[in-house]
Amino acid sequence: MDTPATSNLNYIDFLNQYKSTLKSVFYQRDQLEKFSQRRGFPSMVWREIMKNKPLSVSIPEQYGGRGAIVKECLGLLAASSYESLPLSLTFGINIALFLEPLAKYGQESVKQGIFDRFLHQQNMGGLMITEPDFGSDALNMQTYNQRIGEHYHIKGTKHWQGLTGIADYWLMTCRNKSEKGDLNRDVDFFICDAHDPAQHIEVTELYNNIGLYGIPYGKNHVDIKVPESYKLIPESTGLKLMMDLLHRSRLQFPGMAMGFIERMLDDAIDHTQKRYVGGKALIQLDQVKYQIARIQSAFTICSGMCSRSSEFSSIENNMAGHGLEANAIKAFVTDLMQESAQRLAQLKGANGYRAESFAARGVVDSRPFLIFEGSNEMLYTQIAEMVLKQMGRKKIAKLSDYLCDLHCTTKVTSRYKSLIDFEPGTNLPQRKLVDLGRIISRIICGQYVLNLAEKGFRQDLVLDSLLMIEHEISFWLGSFNGHVTVGPIEDYKEKSSWLAY
Ligand SMILES: Cc1cc2nc3c(=O)[nH]c(=O)nc-3n(C[C@H](O)[C@H](O)[C@H](O)COP(=O)(O)OP(=O)(O)OC[C@H]3O[C@@H](n4cnc5c(N)ncnc54)[C@H](O)[C@@H]3O)c2cc1C
Repeated sequence: MDTPATSNLNYIDFLNQYKSTLKSVFYQRDQLEKFSQRRGFPSMVWREIMKNKPLSVSIPEQYGGRGAIVKECLGLLAASSYESLPLSLTFGINIALFLEPLAKYGQESVKQGIFDRFLHQQNMGGLMITEPDFGSDALNMQTYNQRIGEHYHIKGTKHWQGLTGIADYWLMTCRNKSEKGDLNRDVDFFICDAHDPAQHIEVTELYNNIGLYGIPYGKNHVDIKVPESYKLIPESTGLKLMMDLLHRSRLQFPGMAMGFIERMLDDAIDHTQKRYVGGKALIQLDQVKYQIARIQSAFTICSGMCSRSSEFSSIENNMAGHGLEANAIKAFVTDLMQESAQRLAQLKGANGYRAESFAARGVVDSRPFLIFEGSNEMLYTQIAEMVLKQMGRKKIAKLSDYLCDLHCTTKVTSRYKSLIDFEPGTNLPQRKLVDLGRIISRIICGQYVLNLAEKGFRQDLVLDSLLMIEHEISFWLGSFNGHVTVGPIEDYKEKSSWLAY
């Protein structure tokens, strides 16, 4: 039975009810530490969680959901990641990679039936893009579709899909194959229903992923026939649909990061207050204070990102043209997740190396966030390239001159002007582009923190995190200016063994 009237509850009551279920299943009935090391979520735990209809947050009201309000989605993701990052990612996949695209681009004739299965039968959905030979280079994917009568025949191989083997629905990406056998440049999206034998996807291998144990990954052999009504209808091209979908998803990463970083902060404060070394609580040591201040700054920055994302990333708006902010948020917040987990693991000492420690799990579980949905190096490069291209077009040489007029940095640029009052130049090597992208992303997110302050967020947290951002900008500026063109010497084996000398 569903938890009473979940969809009628006001949001705060809904969220509190959800949080208390998490506390009950993770701490009272079973121990999170124990099953954080098991593959999959125990079915009793899963059933209890799903009684709250968590995915109702991402289903529009006219189909029986809570309205696909970004703030509600991010709040749910944050509440989940405070207890379990795999749980939060499971919902993140369902929300951003299946339900939101379905709500926005699905054909009317099929939507209600699918949403009903998510609301009443605890169904789940994921997205298939990556192929063994085409990951970062996804636009060259080889999975193809051909229309045969009322159906599309889709064939190919996909791998590393979150929820491999257990999702009830997939969003399948592929390219149309012409009669001559050429693959179209555009990408098509199809829903597929794993319960229909004609749409069943065969799992040929399950991967032994080192973290995110709640989520299965693997290799999928695709040879399916889906009805015409399962094709998503783009507003213009499939590539624009893909950018809208991926950017919205990147903008919702802060939801998953929020609870995760808050948990790292709470555990870091609690541990260092209680742990005495040499007669002093750890938290009295300056380096420890610095480590915790870094995590606390990550907490504030991530709060600013959540607030910004809630303002504009709903399915009513098209995110295809918001690559700068989407990339800045995804790359920076995932760096912050990994950094916060590493810092807590260090502060915990040897106990941070126990497999059941939240810090150790956090290090491993947050690691792939730097890779999936656009590797961070690629995203930072794109950020720098977008800004340099616009500077070139507008014939602006200095970074500060450009950023002081850019909508997402205009308020904050004066604060960091002395640091960024330089000409980055043209034809930069990629290592410099990556540093420049890092600097720009920090400035963009500095503005989100300022915006939070205007809305009444605690001033001490805001000021500390603006100072931390300044420190980071200086750090990456040092790297940007200090780069030398050292590269790998691939045949380094000759005359390079120390034993001979
Ligand atoms: C835990 C996890 C969950 C995932 N979930 C999904 C999912 O649900 N659905 C799905 O379809 N896929 C998913 N993926 C796949 C993921 O999106 C790909 O792994 C990712 O796109 C990278 O592709 P690749 O592994 O082929 O690496 P490659 O493309 O071979 O890249 C390897 C590395 O090279 C570097 N690199 C690549 N391109 C550039 C560049 N332009 N500039 C600088 N450096 C670069 C980066 O360091 C990158 O990490 C998931 C992967 C993981 C690990």
